[in-house]
Amino acid sequence: MIDTHSHIYCDAFDDDRALVVERSQQAGVSHLILPNENLASVPLLKDLHALYPAYTSMAIGLHPEEVKPNYREELDAMRAMLDSGEFIAVGEIGMDLYWDKTYRAEQMEALKIQLEWCQEKGLPFIMHCRDGMDEVLEVLDSLKGDMPRGVFHCFGGDEHDIERLRERGDFYYGIGGVVTFKKSKLPQLLPIIGLDRILLETDAPYMAPVPMRGKRNESSYIPYINNHIAQVLGTTPEEVSRVTDVNAKTLFNL
Ligand SMILES: [Zn+2]
Repeated sequence: MIDTHSHIYCDAFDDDRALVVERSQQAGVSHLILPNENLASVPLLKDLHALYPAYTSMAIGLHPEEVKPNYREELDAMRAMLDSGEFIAVGEIGMDLYWDKTYRAEQMEALKIQLEWCQEKGLPFIMHCRDGMDEVLEVLDSLKGDMPRGVFHCFGGDEHDIERLRERGDFYYGIGGVVTFKKSKLPQLLPIIGLDRILLETDAPYMAPVPMRGKRNESSYIPYINNHIAQVLGTTPEEVSRVTDVNAKTLFNL
């Protein structure tokens, strides 16, 4: 099982990070992908990756909630880092208008610039989208050239959104703890998405799955998500692990 979205480099894990990694290895999680947040978080990812070079992979990008008036400077600095070749994806990028719509135009511009990096470098994106699907689609439609590959992480859309995305590209969908929540409508979408387009993710430290809901999330909880997906799709946990591993390796070229 691969955790395709883990922020265990962040300060919520400063006291026990080595133990968290150990637990995730013991839980059968074979690899972690670390999505970036802003310029300040890049050294944190790098420090963790230096400790576990074979066990982790890094993405670089500016999270939509981190798009501030200085976003162009942050993007310029990240773009220069991208040339080092040590990043496997551009992320996380996207739109988030849930709390604050102040920087809607800037978020769209930052998203477009970073999707163009994907095109230029042949890298997949890791997309965060909360209350911003119309904007994401508008930006995707504004791209010239080939549609980049990528994952819609912590997918929170509906069937119509999946249809609209499929008209534009062959994307993957990151499924995490939300799928285990009692009132979640996500389970109904799993057969529509199909196992061959699902990626496992925790989004640690957020969104811990049942029975750990409300606690700090960590990558060792991936089996709860994996097993719940198996139950929903009427297949075995082994099959979900096997197919989602192939999916992650295919998308991220692991
Ligand atoms: Zn994230």
